[in-house]
Amino acid sequence: MNSRTLDKQTLLSVIIPVFNEEEVLPRLFGVVDKVIASLPVRVEVVLVNDGSRDGSLERMLEKKAGDSHYRVIDLARNFGHQQAVSAGLSLARGDVVAILDADLQDPPELLGPMLDRWHHGVDVVYGQRGKREGESAFKRATAYVFYRLLNWAASAEIPPDTGDFRLMDRKVVDALNAMPERQRFLRGMIAWLGYRQEPILYDRQARQAGITKYPLKKMVALSMDALFSFSMKPLRWMALAGVGMTLIGVLLVAVLVVVRLRYPHIFVPGLATTWVALLVLFGFNFLCLGILGEYVGRTFVNVQGRPGFLIREVYAQAEPDSEHPGGFPEGRAS
Ligand code: UDP
Ligand code: MG
Repeated sequence: MNSRTLDKQTLLSVIIPVFNEEEVLPRLFGVVDKVIASLPVRVEVVLVNDGSRDGSLERMLEKKAGDSHYRVIDLARNFGHQQAVSAGLSLARGDVVAILDADLQDPPELLGPMLDRWHHGVDVVYGQRGKREGESAFKRATAYVFYRLLNWAASAEIPPDTGDFRLMDRKVVDALNAMPERQRFLRGMIAWLGYRQEPILYDRQARQAGITKYPLKKMVALSMDALFSFSMKPLRWMALAGVGMTLIGVLLVAVLVVVRLRYPHIFVPGLATTWVALLVLFGFNFLCLGILGEYVGRTFVNVQGRPGFLIREVYAQAEPDSEHPGGFPEGRAS
């Protein structure tokens, strides 16, 4: 175990995924610089460019050129938020590692208090949201339902109202990097890991500039990853529903036989009933096939074993480093 001292012996890596955040970057750098100056530890800021199509990469490289705290990882294309953070995690060198959104919705000022908790033995300090400002009622409502549904279904206890804003000990990061799964719902994976985890409460501010990079489509994809990667329960629901329907069917046959024998005069074949039953059962069948497909598809993607992200270029400082004299260690693209 490392010593968890709060001095210049300790290196903190701050990972920031960036996708088209040109407008907010200057403000981000301003705030982060101030926070870095106030921290007792050494800091490296790992900016991950997730295939931005605006001037984000240029802004980041300019910053890196003038400030030795900053490093830039440029991914080959847009791989999505969770993969961008995973790329950062695989290359971060800190004894302790934090994840931060670029849009300042996660206050960097909390890094100090988070470090304190780590110093006192907590392995994962995760931000838990109290108020959420500047987010639509729709986003808040879906998030509320989603976290509760997930916890009901999931096999790991995933704390509600948390994003990826957190600070982790090196051993947690190593464990995470060793998990090869392609669908990376990081907050769930980290919850699954165990160790000593504690929340730190904060009010989520509104995005400081630019628009959300999580449109509904990406939110749905993330939710599906969360549900289907962390729970086998939907499969069980299918089986249970199947059993239930079979029972109803058997009962219905018995009833029909009795009616046919006892009251042949009222036995009229019901066309409407047949159609309704047909449509409902077929609909249900396809739903079940769809659920099955989610698991089969995820298995397929994992069996393919393609890397989750590819790195185009790492812009690191030439600054010598005791552990990795050549700058960054080779990144594992997983
Ligand atoms: N992001 C990313 N790749 C993506 C989408 C988002 O790296 O494909 C980054 C984005 O730049 C930001 C963070 O992930 O730093 C969170 O995105 P955003 O703030 O848009 O999400 P929201 O807060 O609206 O859920
Ligand atoms: Mg945001």
